[in-house]
Amino acid sequence: MERKRILTGDRPTGKLHLGHYVGSLANRVRLQDEYDCFFIVADLHTLTTRPEKEHIEALRQNVHDVVLDYLSVGIDPARSVIYLQSAAPAVYEMNLFFEMLVTLPRLQRVPSIKDMARAANLNDETLPFGLVGYPVLQAADILMPRANLVPVGRDNEAHVEVAREIARRFNYLYGEVFPLPEVMVGEVPSLIGTDGQAKMSKSLGNAIFLSDDAKTVTRKVTGMYTDPNRISADIPGQVEGNPVFAYHDAFNPNLAEVEDLKARYRQGKVGDVEVKDKLTRALNTFMDPIRERRATFEAQKGLVEQVIYEGTQRASHEGEETVLLMRKAMGLSGLWNRISRKAREAQEAKA
Ligand code: ATP
Ligand code: MG
Repeated sequence: MERKRILTGDRPTGKLHLGHYVGSLANRVRLQDEYDCFFIVADLHTLTTRPEKEHIEALRQNVHDVVLDYLSVGIDPARSVIYLQSAAPAVYEMNLFFEMLVTLPRLQRVPSIKDMARAANLNDETLPFGLVGYPVLQAADILMPRANLVPVGRDNEAHVEVAREIARRFNYLYGEVFPLPEVMVGEVPSLIGTDGQAKMSKSLGNAIFLSDDAKTVTRKVTGMYTDPNRISADIPGQVEGNPVFAYHDAFNPNLAEVEDLKARYRQGKVGDVEVKDKLTRALNTFMDPIRERRATFEAQKGLVEQVIYEGTQRASHEGEETVLLMRKAMGLSGLWNRISRKAREAQEAKA
């Protein structure tokens, strides 16, 4: 029996952070043996909010960084395919077919598109067609290798729902080509940023990156937002919604220590300094093996490029197969075959 497939990935808009890890990367690493995995570096998706040449030039470094992040957390290119979206041609064609299978009001209801538009300073007048179509292109990504499962963070759940609807509609109109992809949201569906204001995000300046060194982690944790009402250590504090404790829950394996800190925090019997010191230690312990792997991979010149080159060839091949299945199901192959046959016959008759 063929193994089921995973597709998921990231926009190369910067380095990956702790939020990516708990939202999606941890599941990817864990499921590599159970599924055939395709991990997409979605450079075309960056064009939806950053089409300018300077941003395209920045992709070279960003793609490199994201792939290095993948390898550092334990994504294994011998088992999993890592590929560059813009270099696998099938996705452009699939995107066009899928655009016919979803309505504009449906896409306008996807909440994350509004968030992305706001973050990019776009309004109703300046919103590009392509940004509204973000979930359609993502559906093409997911369905290109005919994926069954999509491990993502919460902000992407609604996109996978659109992909399911498109797959269902395609199958209904033309016959069963696609499985209906299921979403899998990570253990922490949306990790809050160090600012305590919004989800941790590459572009909001509130992230601890997987590639940060120990000193940077210390500095970022020291500056973290905590309970603003707690101006001294003897005031009882709020644990719920406090990012410092959200990170303890996500990354500190010493449950007894975390429970003890929470209890004393609630009673006003522990200072922020101790809570943050213990968090820094837990984070650095979690990140040390990631740092070690990163150093090993970084030392191998051209490795990242080789990984993505080979992965893209494999993904392109899958894409070609999918597009053939689609064209056949839709009757487009038949149409073209008939035209070519008649053209050939006419030429032969003349000769
Ligand atoms: P950008 O600011 O460019 O949008 P981002 O930090 O939001 O970057 P994406 O590339 O949009 O990252 O997201 C990649 C994947 O990581 C998605 O599956 C997304 O749901 C997940 N993810 C991103 N941020 C978080 C977070 N703070 N908590 C949990 N999951 C997250
Ligand atoms: Mg995002």
